[in-house]
Amino acid sequence: MEILSNLQKKDLKHIFHPCSQMKDYEQLPPIVITKGDGLYVEDEFGNKYMDCVSSWWVNLFGHCNPRINKVIKEQVDKLEHIIFANFSHEAAIELGERLTKVAPEGLNKLIFTDNGSSSTEVSIKLSFQYHAQTGNPQKKKFVSIDGAYHGETIGALGVGNMDRFTDVYKPLIREGVKVKGPNCFECEYGKTRDCCEAECFEHMEKHLNEHGNEIAGVIIESMVQGVAGMRIYSPIYLKKLRELTLKLNIHLIADEIAMGFGRTGKMFAIEHAGVSPDIMCVGKGLTAGYFPMSIVLITDKLYEAFYADYSEGKS
Ligand SMILES: *Cc1c(COP(=O)(O)O)cnc(C)c1O
Repeated sequence: MEILSNLQKKDLKHIFHPCSQMKDYEQLPPIVITKGDGLYVEDEFGNKYMDCVSSWWVNLFGHCNPRINKVIKEQVDKLEHIIFANFSHEAAIELGERLTKVAPEGLNKLIFTDNGSSSTEVSIKLSFQYHAQTGNPQKKKFVSIDGAYHGETIGALGVGNMDRFTDVYKPLIREGVKVKGPNCFECEYGKTRDCCEAECFEHMEKHLNEHGNEIAGVIIESMVQGVAGMRIYSPIYLKKLRELTLKLNIHLIADEIAMGFGRTGKMFAIEHAGVSPDIMCVGKGLTAGYFPMSIVLITDKLYEAFYADYSEGKS
């Protein structure tokens, strides 16, 4: 093994890195990045790298973006944080106004959350509670498709479908319902992009038609299943899903954490289908990686189901 720097030695002494095997770091020590500039980052030895993974899909505007750096510095000198129950602040208000303006139609309200996984958790809780307090307490189940990834917390793993991440936690997880989704790499109907009518929706259609009465929501990554291997599918699938979920009073929860903010050529990927979800999760690019924060956008209809006297316990 090469000679390690002091920082590398200290890193290996204390830090348990995610999504990698610490044993491998003995052969490939962590690359300690000390500087960032646009597309490039530099390590402690002066080696330059092009950040092709955009720091795990979060860095949309380059490292140390001068405009973002400037406003963040101004903000921390003015106000760093304030309790959000009964209080508010200008930056949050402005973000709320601007985000709802560019969001798919109907998503007029938003809830601040901490990271992608916690926005998934909040979506599930919201949908569940909505049905419970609008006369459909039997609607308790959440459906997702195979290859789904919605985060790493226990609730988010329940609607995830990547066995590699979930298997060991099975005894802890309240599992959602898995339905076979699109697989455009090996289309079982022999279709191509030109002639696809999202025939594969039949699996979802059958399941929702048979069990719709117990289902609170369907959660899906819009257009691209990122963690499953950038699996792109037809917007027709989302169109059909929107139509049927509306008919059956099932929430369509769009996970735009990875694909939101322009990654697929539209501001939000679900726009390719020309439909709006009931609930939409955004994260990652939302802060361009500057800090962990996510947002859950919801419709007025959902919001109104929680609007009551505090003593009613609907908040
Ligand atoms: C990254 C990701 C999440 C989880 O976000 P975290 O901020 O890592 O908790 C959820 N869904 C999708 C589609 C993601 O890509």
